[in-house]
Amino acid sequence: MPELRHNVLTREWVIIATERARRPEDFTKKGKEKKIIPSYVATCPFCPGNEKMTPPETYVVPDTTGWRLRVTPNKFAALSYEGERRRSIHGIRRTITGVGIHEVIVETPDHSKTTALLDDAQVETIVQTYLNRFKFASQDPRVEQVTIFKNHGEAAGTSLEHPHSQMIGTPVITAQLRDRLINALRHFDEFGECIFCRVLDQELKEGARVILETRHFVAFVQYAALTPFSMLIMPRRHMACFAEISDEEAADLASALRRTLAKLYQGLDDPDFNYVVRTAPAEYTGVKYYHWYVSIIPRLTKTAGFELGSGMFINVSLPEESASFLRGIQVA
Ligand SMILES: [Zn+2]
Ligand SMILES: [Zn+2]
Repeated sequence: MPELRHNVLTREWVIIATERARRPEDFTKKGKEKKIIPSYVATCPFCPGNEKMTPPETYVVPDTTGWRLRVTPNKFAALSYEGERRRSIHGIRRTITGVGIHEVIVETPDHSKTTALLDDAQVETIVQTYLNRFKFASQDPRVEQVTIFKNHGEAAGTSLEHPHSQMIGTPVITAQLRDRLINALRHFDEFGECIFCRVLDQELKEGARVILETRHFVAFVQYAALTPFSMLIMPRRHMACFAEISDEEAADLASALRRTLAKLYQGLDDPDFNYVVRTAPAEYTGVKYYHWYVSIIPRLTKTAGFELGSGMFINVSLPEESASFLRGIQVA
């Protein structure tokens, strides 16, 4: 019989379709010809030599021959850098001017090097850049929430092949984050504990969904994963905000992220995926009820009418099987 599971972090129910479940290896891009990606593409705006194709840098990590990583405003920014944040209310209609910060982080000069193929030092540079840009955007009085995310592959929403991630500082707190903050606060009020610490504790005790552990982080498939192989990388130490991370933890996160993505890359043949740093806004630093983490969502199945219409997902994989499969993939 299928099973409904409850996600305590989001309060969402998901149908785990145990009988229709596909085996982990069935999620590989079978039949699709493996594309060879070159390390340089003359027309790519993110390849070295084409810096003029993007707006001027806001942050750069230089190396002897040029740069190792660069950040620029998004040429097709969703929000405007210029202008004041102004809220207006007309009857039941609310509007805010579309100001904020939208940047692109070009993760490496090498066009072909997705995170799974980079070395730990380069991924650490990426994580340190996330921290730098998070702090930068958080200081802007017009910005209420900073979201750092990566789209890899067309199914994840990008047509640009060159490895990059993005940061958007929005002039409001989104309904999704607000919901999660309230849910976590309510749990803290009722039980006197951080719900995320509790989830992590339980995952470590059970072990069935854990993919890998490092000194400071644990990667696991969620008990009530909405989609196949959807997982979290959570810090062991309680921290509400991503900016609270130490240098040692940042280096360790780089390794955990690179190795988790390498397992996906090898196990499922470079699937499309999104990842997001889910954190409380900077001014929530130190609160006891929220706990930041990285969420990785491989795009292996399509969202269909039932999901759109009901908000309830049907997961055609077993989280325990997915985790066991990824645990078994050996990576450096
Ligand atoms: Zn490129
Ligand atoms: Zn916690």
